[in-house]
Amino acid sequence: MKSYVSIREAVPQLTNAFKWFDSFIREMYFTSERCLSEIKTPAGGTTIGGAGHALNLRMVVAAAGNPSIFGIEFLCLSVEAFSLQRLVELSFDCTLERDSVRLDFCSAASDGGSCWVIAKEVQVVFLGKEYLGPLLRLGHEAPREDATNAAKIDECWRQCGNCSNAWIEKSEIEFARCPECGMLTRLVENLTRCGVVPLDSPGSIGSQGNP
Ligand SMILES: [Zn+2]
Repeated sequence: MKSYVSIREAVPQLTNAFKWFDSFIREMYFTSERCLSEIKTPAGGTTIGGAGHALNLRMVVAAAGNPSIFGIEFLCLSVEAFSLQRLVELSFDCTLERDSVRLDFCSAASDGGSCWVIAKEVQVVFLGKEYLGPLLRLGHEAPREDATNAAKIDECWRQCGNCSNAWIEKSEIEFARCPECGMLTRLVENLTRCGVVPLDSPGSIGSQGNP
């Protein structure tokens, strides 16, 4: 998993190391784990109810002005409020409160709307060359430490560690939901596939003396 740092540590770099005016928002996903599902009532019937977690925002800014960083991912956890009135000619400002963070992507001087997010916590990761090019998207699933492992089978196939279902997913997408069981999975490069020993592991059949 990529190493996220708290926004509190990243503010000096975010403030000084980028040309925000030439940067732009490339991906933005609001996701909630909340869902509606059937719940059994004490009387033996069913009703529809909701359960789940707070709204999270995963946003990637294509970053300009730094020779080694091409994207900045902001993971805003438990979003309390936001405004998306202006998404170009960005600037950056951050207000740290004791139990919330306000990110501003437009300076007070800019006219015509604003773009800001208030969240309980914000984590940041800087993306290097892997974030160059027109095709790449990090995807909408917010990273979670407790995600189930998915084993990499080849460049496009992966296998769910929960139900053993295999499916096609772009290899750049680290977090994806298994289309069979719905679990959030994290792609793990060197994981033994369910019940299968990798051929290149020490001592496995065929690793030595194979013609
Ligand atoms: Zn599964």
